[in-house]
Amino acid sequence: MSNSYKLLVLPGDGIGPEVMNEVVKIAKGIEEIGGVQFNIEKDDIGGAAYDRYGTPLSEETLEKAKNSHAILLGAVGGEKWDNLDFSLKPEQGLLRIRKELDLFANLRPALCFKSMVESSSLKAELVSGLDIMIVRELTGGIYFGEPRGIQEQGDGSRVGINTQSYNTEEIRRVARIAFELASKRDNRVTSCEKSNVMESGILWREEVTHVHKNEFQSVQLSHMYADNCAMQLVRNPKQFDVIVTDNLFGDILSDEAAMLTGSLGMLPSASLGAVDSKNFRKSLYEPVHGSAPDISGKGIANPIASILSFAMCLKYSFNMDKESDLLNKSVNDVLSSGFKTADLMGDNNKNLSTVEMGDQILNQLRNNFKL
Ligand code: NAD
Repeated sequence: MSNSYKLLVLPGDGIGPEVMNEVVKIAKGIEEIGGVQFNIEKDDIGGAAYDRYGTPLSEETLEKAKNSHAILLGAVGGEKWDNLDFSLKPEQGLLRIRKELDLFANLRPALCFKSMVESSSLKAELVSGLDIMIVRELTGGIYFGEPRGIQEQGDGSRVGINTQSYNTEEIRRVARIAFELASKRDNRVTSCEKSNVMESGILWREEVTHVHKNEFQSVQLSHMYADNCAMQLVRNPKQFDVIVTDNLFGDILSDEAAMLTGSLGMLPSASLGAVDSKNFRKSLYEPVHGSAPDISGKGIANPIASILSFAMCLKYSFNMDKESDLLNKSVNDVLSSGFKTADLMGDNNKNLSTVEMGDQILNQLRNNFKL
């Protein structure tokens, strides 16, 4: 694999540009220590793209995305664009880029840094050292299934319909990603569905079992009903390594698991697609949070979710595990020293701006590399 990568940076709206500036700064730091070159190109998405191109995702930007090794996205949305036609709203840019690149696996880690244990709603001993990876199927299931809609019944009543539907390949490809991830972690996958009451759940369980039996027997597989998983996540979250589940259950379980670890400003994500002819997996990395219009322009946004998303990019797109681990450690070290952004502030902490937090993490990264 070459050590020169094309990175498309799409800062988006609100605090997106503020946090993405810090990511670019960290990427330059990784270039120094990792012996790589990132050819960074910036473009617009969301409301910023509507203002510039008249559409939340232009064809040119989409083409650049298809030709990049990875995409780093900030956030989209804001009041300014709230009254646009639905198809022109900022969020449509995000949905379209995911769909066009067929990013079918959404990875959301729930990682509890020691320095953040007190921010969790659970007892410290339940979350200290927590490290779960939720793999959510992102392009199929009930959010896309047909038929769908609201039907008038002719008697004044209406019926709302959505269809949960999965085929063999949709399940197998996301299961493979979960098994591959587990094999680089604690080697355990829990597959969640509702096979007790749903045929699509029976198929899900059978297909995940098939992939396991034929391709990943060395990984430990267990099955769990999704409602039980929701309960187990708050009862004993450390029992899990990788959880793989469908779009609907994954939407809910990943939010639940992520919030075990504290603030929205800390949560990264990755969306992965298929491997292309040049052996590169399509991938997009973004923080879980939105454009936070209430704090936009104040210089106080927490850039850590975006920086941790870049750490995921180093690991999953570029196989730079060492640099990714160093970056994660640097974030933890800075937080442990009591440096926090406004959203994380507690007693005896030192309040940093967005730029200062980026600088601290970069300095710590350089120091950790020298150790
Ligand atoms: P939000 O995530 O933007 O903000 C929720 C709260 O968390 C706000 O109080 C905000 O100040 C705070 N917050 C979020 N990120 C933070 C950070 N990095 N540092 C410090 N504080 C942070 O969610 P919202 O307010 O519901 O939505 C605002 C806009 O963002 C809407 O237009 C919405 O559609 C959009 N949105 C976009 C995405 C995305 O781009 N993926 C996701 C969610 C919401």
